[in-house]
Amino acid sequence: MSIEIRQNLCIGCGRCITVCPGSLIKLKNKTATIPKPERCWGCASCIKECTAEAIALFLGEDMGGLGGKMTVRRENSLLHWTVTKANGTAQTITVNSLDSNKY
Ligand code: SF4
Ligand code: SF4
Repeated sequence: MSIEIRQNLCIGCGRCITVCPGSLIKLKNKTATIPKPERCWGCASCIKECTAEAIALFLGEDMGGLGGKMTVRRENSLLHWTVTKANGTAQTITVNSLDSNKY
C-alpha cells in the first residue's frame, strides 16, 4: 500500500480521483477510498491535489524510514511537504509551485 486516505479529513471534492493515472480512487458515501491499494505505485499526484491533507504517502526505507508518511498542505501556490517518521518526529519543507519549471 502506498497511500492512506484519512477519511475523517476527506471533504469528498473528488480531485484525487481526477488525477490518479490508474483510476484507483473511488468515491463512496461522499468519501474517497482506494479499494485496491496494492495497485498504487506511489506517484504522489493525489496527495498534491488534496487540499484537505486527507491523503498520506507511505515512505520507503530510503525516504524517511519504515512507517514514515508524507503529507502535503497547499496554501495558494505554496506546497508544504511534511515527512512524519515512525517515531513521531516531523519535518516540513515549503516549495512554491510557481517555481517548479524554473530550473
Ligand atoms: S499515489 Fe498516484 S497511483 Fe497511487 S493512488 Fe495516488 S494518484 Fe493514484
Ligand atoms: S482530494 Fe482529498 S478531500 Fe478531495 S476527495 Fe480526495 S481525499 Fe477527499
